[in-house]
Amino acid sequence: MNRISFIIIVCLPCVTVSSAQSSNDSLLLRSIYNEALGNGEAYSNLRHLTKDIGHRLSGSESAANAMKWGQSVMDAYGADRTWVMPVLVPSWTRGDVARSTAHIGHADIPLHVTALGGSVGTPDDQAIRGKIVMVKDVNALDTLSSSVIEGRIVLFNRPMDPVLINTGAAYGGAVDQRGNGASAAAKAGAIGALVRSMTHALDTLPHTGALRYKDAIERIPAAAISTVDASMLSHELKMHPDLEVSLQMNCEAFDDVEQGNVIGEWTGTVFPNEIITIGGHLDSWDIGEGAHDDGAGVVHTLETLRILKAIGYKPKRTLRFVLFINEENGNRGGKEYARQAGIENEQSALVHLAAMESDAGGFVPRGFRIDASDSATAIVRSWEDLFAPYNVHLFRRGGAGVDISPLKALTPRPTMLGLSPDGQRYFDFHHSSQDVFENVHKRELELGAATFAAALVMMDQHLPSPREDR
Ligand SMILES: [Zn+2]
Repeated sequence: MNRISFIIIVCLPCVTVSSAQSSNDSLLLRSIYNEALGNGEAYSNLRHLTKDIGHRLSGSESAANAMKWGQSVMDAYGADRTWVMPVLVPSWTRGDVARSTAHIGHADIPLHVTALGGSVGTPDDQAIRGKIVMVKDVNALDTLSSSVIEGRIVLFNRPMDPVLINTGAAYGGAVDQRGNGASAAAKAGAIGALVRSMTHALDTLPHTGALRYKDAIERIPAAAISTVDASMLSHELKMHPDLEVSLQMNCEAFDDVEQGNVIGEWTGTVFPNEIITIGGHLDSWDIGEGAHDDGAGVVHTLETLRILKAIGYKPKRTLRFVLFINEENGNRGGKEYARQAGIENEQSALVHLAAMESDAGGFVPRGFRIDASDSATAIVRSWEDLFAPYNVHLFRRGGAGVDISPLKALTPRPTMLGLSPDGQRYFDFHHSSQDVFENVHKRELELGAATFAAALVMMDQHLPSPREDR
């Protein structure tokens, strides 16, 4: 036997098994996409969530209503059991006043602002007024003397970097102003903060988002200002450096309340002690309807359960469908889920094998962000040809999602995937009054659901068991 025929004969069985498997996978994916596109319920579920229930800020009555609805849908779609994992969440209201005016010479120009999530109101709900200090960076405050900042309002005006193709990276490069700006400004003696909205769009919409006050630093009011207004102020400051801005808000924080993660479980048929988690976050900001962020992820998750039941799928592993609470202003749902997963890993025979999240909008799916070991990453990348017919082709390493990220601390470390839709328009809507049902496209949403379900099935079928790994 010459060397070449030896190789052919020895390798023939594995080639046959591999191509048969690939053909099975290919048919399975086709049936998933057929079900999502032919009989999909993601769009009608999103309509109900956004229009009948509405936006879902943690601690609000509508978030509680969304929890009840999510559990009822999981029951109706055939989860073996559903429950709520209690989580204490913050309670904060935006109030009904968010006024800001630029006083330039004799002109009073109204500005488009909204409170950053968690901000205190202005003292006694009355307007504050001061000159502007404009900076592009939180650290820039350290280079200014306190006499320049004291009694003033700091305008953080660094745009998202337009040259980055990954808009999520551009967001990540700018968002520290929103999270940390208020406390940095207060430490330097400012009385308030305005933060340029996190969007590439030049528009008059303020985009909210969470701030984090540092302990032992005075809490000053902070608001998002539209990109048009931030650019206008920047321009006017060159000619009128003494221009003043007033700001009035009546937002308010209350005691934490108990809400929770909504969980539906489907027991595996081969390795029931191995858990794969799939989810999105149920809470949203309170302006707009949380349609892309993260209504899309919620209905992707529910639709995945429906699709797999409809095609008669039998999971090998136990699948957990999770609607997380409080991603937007604390991630307490994700942290509590990981804490309990750690206890399950240690105190029972369960292993959290993998997790997957959809929290990047309801746009056309392009691929996945992979947060996994080298060997698991190679397995996921071996699926590229199977997804290519659906124009899903970006298999890149990166953060898989905020809600599932605390699971990274588990041992063994779960394989994590994030659904990665096209992100070019996401920040046009993100955290703004335009994040509404009308701005989600039915077919794009359905393609996302199918892609999410297909990846779950591939993980269920092909990730090695920790036992097999040893
Ligand atoms: Zn989100």
